[in-house]
Amino acid sequence: MLARHPPAREATGLEWLTMYAPPPGEQAGPLRRPVPWRQRPARGGARMRHGESFREHLRLGRRGLAIGIDIGGTKVAAGVVDAEGRILSEARRSTPGTDPRAVESVIVELVEELGRGHRIWSVGIGAAGWMDLDGGTVLFSPHLAWRNEPLRDNLQKLLRRPVLLANDADAAAWAEWRFGAGQGEDRLVCITLGTGIGGAMVMDGRVERGRFGVAGEFGHQIIMPGGHRCECGNRGCWEQYASGNALGREARILARANGPVAQELLAAVGGHSETITGAVVTELALAGDAASRELLDEVGEWLGLGLANLAAALDPGLFVIGGGLCSAGDLLVEPARKAFARNLTGRGFRPAAGIELAALGPNAGLIGAADLSRVSSRLRG
Ligand SMILES: [Zn+2]
Repeated sequence: MLARHPPAREATGLEWLTMYAPPPGEQAGPLRRPVPWRQRPARGGARMRHGESFREHLRLGRRGLAIGIDIGGTKVAAGVVDAEGRILSEARRSTPGTDPRAVESVIVELVEELGRGHRIWSVGIGAAGWMDLDGGTVLFSPHLAWRNEPLRDNLQKLLRRPVLLANDADAAAWAEWRFGAGQGEDRLVCITLGTGIGGAMVMDGRVERGRFGVAGEFGHQIIMPGGHRCECGNRGCWEQYASGNALGREARILARANGPVAQELLAAVGGHSETITGAVVTELALAGDAASRELLDEVGEWLGLGLANLAAALDPGLFVIGGGLCSAGDLLVEPARKAFARNLTGRGFRPAAGIELAALGPNAGLIGAADLSRVSSRLRG
C-alpha cells in the first residue's frame, strides 16, 4: 500500500490569515477550507472555491476593493485599495485623542466617505500595538487608549462588513511582500525606522507573529548594555541607536558642543540646538552637509550591526528598510550594508541577505491592511 503524503502546498499566506482570524473561540491552525463567518459581508463577493490555489484566488478576486485604515498617533489615513495594491482614493483625519469610541467614529466616517464612490468588500485596520492571535482584540496600543479592546466586533457591527485588525508593521511587511520591495522573497524581514524601530517578518508566505502574537519587537534588542535609557524601561535598546530619534539626539549633542563641524546644523535651526530633529539632519545630509552625513553614517552602522544580529537568529533572504528615515536613501543604507557585512556571523562562508529600501513609502501599512482584509474576507465568504 502506498504511503499517503499530504499534497505539497505553495507558500500562500493562508496560514497567516488563520492566525489573524480563526473562527471565534478556536485556536489558530491550518486552514483547508473556508471557515464559517458569523456575520456575512453586507454586499456580494465570492468564496475561495474548493481546489482553487491561493494565487488563483487572488487573481480572481481582482474586482474586490477594500479600505485600509492606518491609525497613527497624530493622523488616521484611509484609502480604497484594489487587488493589485493600488490606492484608488484617499482620505485623512487627525487622530481624535485617545478615546476608543471617538476613534471608532472616525473610522466609520472614513469608511462612509470612501465607500460612496466604490463597492467596498472589507475593511482592514492597521495600528501600532499588539493584537491577540485571534485578531479580534487589541491587547495594547501605545498611542491610543486601547487596552484589551474588542475592536473587531465593535467595528463589524458598525460597518456591516468584515473587518481585519493588524499590527501596522505586520501590515506594511505584507504589502512590501505582495506589491513592493519584498516580492519574490519568501524569507523577509521588514524594519521600519521612525521615532523608534518597528519590525515584522514574512516567512514562507505568512506573517510570523510568534506564539503570543507579539513577535517583531526588534527595536528592543539590547545592543549596548548600560546604554541610553529606552521608553520600554531597559537600557541600550537598538532603537536608541538606529532610529530617527537617535539621529536627532546625537545631532543635538553635537550642536551643543558647538564645534566648527556643527555650524551648518546650528545655522539651519537658527542656533536653537534643541529643535534639531532626525528629519532636519536627513535634509542637511542630502544637501551635502558633512557633519549630518557623519551622523547618518553612525546611525547606518548601528542599523547594520542590529541587522547582523537578526540574520544570526532568523537567516532571512532580504531585509526591507522602510519608515521616515529612509528618505536618506544610500546615505543610510550603504553604511548599514558595510556594518552588516563586517558583523555577519560566518561571513565569507554563507550567502548574505540583501538590504533594500522599501518601495511603498508611508502608505504600506494602509495597503497591507486593506489587502489582508480583502483576501481574508474572501476566504471566509
Ligand atoms: Zn527598549
